[in-house]
Amino acid sequence: MCLLSDGPRPNDVLCPLIMYLDRICIDQHGRCSLEPGYATLGIWNVATRNKAEAWRPLGYIPNLYLLSKNENKFRMNSLEKLRMYHEILDAMLASVVKLQSKGGVPFSFTYRGKRYDVNLKVFLMFIIGDTEGHDKLCGRYNSRALQVKRVCRHCDIPTMDCDNAFYPWRHVKPDAVHSLVVSNDLEGLKAMSQHPLKNAFYNSKLDIGGNPRGIHGMTPGEPLHVVDLGLFKYGLEGFFICLGMNPKSKAPCKILMELDSIARRIGRFLSHQSDRELPRTYFPFGVTAGTKLSGHEYQGVLLVVLIMCYMEESRSMFLSKMSVSVLHQWIRLLELLLGWRYWLKKASIPRLEVEQSQLATQNLMMMFKSTVKRNHGNGSKFPKLHLPCHFSENMVDFGVIANVDSGPPESNHKPNAKAPSQHTQMRAESFEVQTAQRYVENLIIDFAADALHIDNTPATKAAILAPDILRGARFVFEISEGCEGDINVVSFEWKSKAISEPYHQQYTDWLTRHVFSKLTPGTRVRGCTEHKRHDKFLFRAHPSYRGHNQWHDWATFDWSGGNIDQVDDRVCIPGQIVFFLEVTEEMVGIDVGGEMILPSTGLFALIESLEDPLPHPGKRSELVVKGSKCLTTKQQKKRRRDGRSVRAPNLYLVPVESIDEPISAIPNLGGDPGDFVFVRPVNTWSDCFSDYIAMCHGSLD
Ligand SMILES: [Zn+2]
Repeated sequence: MCLLSDGPRPNDVLCPLIMYLDRICIDQHGRCSLEPGYATLGIWNVATRNKAEAWRPLGYIPNLYLLSKNENKFRMNSLEKLRMYHEILDAMLASVVKLQSKGGVPFSFTYRGKRYDVNLKVFLMFIIGDTEGHDKLCGRYNSRALQVKRVCRHCDIPTMDCDNAFYPWRHVKPDAVHSLVVSNDLEGLKAMSQHPLKNAFYNSKLDIGGNPRGIHGMTPGEPLHVVDLGLFKYGLEGFFICLGMNPKSKAPCKILMELDSIARRIGRFLSHQSDRELPRTYFPFGVTAGTKLSGHEYQGVLLVVLIMCYMEESRSMFLSKMSVSVLHQWIRLLELLLGWRYWLKKASIPRLEVEQSQLATQNLMMMFKSTVKRNHGNGSKFPKLHLPCHFSENMVDFGVIANVDSGPPESNHKPNAKAPSQHTQMRAESFEVQTAQRYVENLIIDFAADALHIDNTPATKAAILAPDILRGARFVFEISEGCEGDINVVSFEWKSKAISEPYHQQYTDWLTRHVFSKLTPGTRVRGCTEHKRHDKFLFRAHPSYRGHNQWHDWATFDWSGGNIDQVDDRVCIPGQIVFFLEVTEEMVGIDVGGEMILPSTGLFALIESLEDPLPHPGKRSELVVKGSKCLTTKQQKKRRRDGRSVRAPNLYLVPVESIDEPISAIPNLGGDPGDFVFVRPVNTWSDCFSDYIAMCHGSLD
């Protein structure tokens, strides 16, 4: 059993096996469904493991429900079915046991010119799946009723205490359960909410890498089901109940109707941003119904609701139903939940932070309980409020939570199960066998093609043209002598077809006054609507994108001139991009409105900037922040002191190199013109939870 029992040899390499079990429906009537058990290797990195071809089916669990309703009821009870399920699993794992009994798998490969002959020591590390599936694997009761003694497959926490994140639970050990099964102690098993059955994973011949917690420690809860479809769903429901929704009746609620309408507007605004990592936020069916949303969409709904808590129009609507302090409590909870969710997505986290996250998670769960105040159903006594308390130890065992995420393997169902199943007769009784045959045939064809060195990679495109700094639609400003002879006249013309919409006059006027008037008549200045930075962020500045609305992206601009080494000391201020302009040799050295001198040639952005950076750039705990293009009284006073005009627009011509990162902004509905609600870049959201961890440990004030 133990890997080291017969002593390690120098060319032994640990090779973890990761399994994934999940049922999928193939046809619309639910007659044909498949429950494949897939496996992949833990020696590959996440990018490889997320590919469909990295997974191989170990087998398909036959449909145990091919019975009529009456037969189902009288012939086999749920316990017998679960026993059979474990017998099938046992048969499925037999090939793994056989492989392990041989002492390893010989494997040769070449790495950096050197050939290695190793012996892969295969052990089953963990199984990816949903809560219900995991409970089945552990042989536990599936019921969520409060009468059931225990609620967690990992530990002994009583159901009645599962809303206490600080309960001193102890791990469930397979030996303890197994000995009760062997002695047929039904009362003892009932007290542990375990079924009397021979668990396929208690098999002493199956190598699980010596995990003392056995299957009870190999079934890590994962964010899609526990967080997105659990806490996020219940949390939003709690918020809507605060606004007057009745969870027990389907009666329409007027305030939620208004909420859905504002949410749709926010979603539309958010779909036009340069931060492409934003979750999906536009939901035509609204956000309050819940039923038509899939797991990952809840992250977007949470963001939309969080923005609404800041936006004037919706905020005043919320405050008609709850006090300011309650609203602030909700804002904090929503922000931390989102920050936590993105922290759980991280590809790497320092071990100390993982260990310290335990306390932060426990605190967050208690905050969830006291803010959401769930009263209907089982109240706060639902297992998904407790399962996150095991995330930290699961991460210590298996690495970041992203490793156990069921999202990527679920999307591999299509090529690995659905595609081969389409070439069967679609008959329920032979469905699994025929699908397996098709899968193996496809595999053989792939191997044969590989052996014949058939190159099916598409021919690469012809030589790449030299990059032009102008992207998207192009336009030209032409400077000519005015009829009076003293003031230049500037004409604007699109060089791209099908655009007629000009940019707003105020920007052309500003450029004419500060730049174009200093150029010799006859000069042409080119500009464009798009710019891509770091091959990652695409910024758009278009007066009528695809013939529809204007699209002017926001970004933060680094005003410290790139001379500062300390990242925290930089001054980054959000600005909205009006358009991009090519600065030519003739323009270098021009003094723009006494604010700056054009330093060099290249692509510049005309931006409308905020006066100051967003509040608390150092404290990263806020994902959503308000800001305005209009000056505050304080900013007006400062301008007067500095001898600058209070009415001067905040327009600047800055090199595109000063763009720091994208930031999302949407107009603050119900506020003054020029007021915006900003969403910090998605790649910084996880910092919110990192800061919370530090705060819980007293190392951040
Ligand atoms: Zn537990």
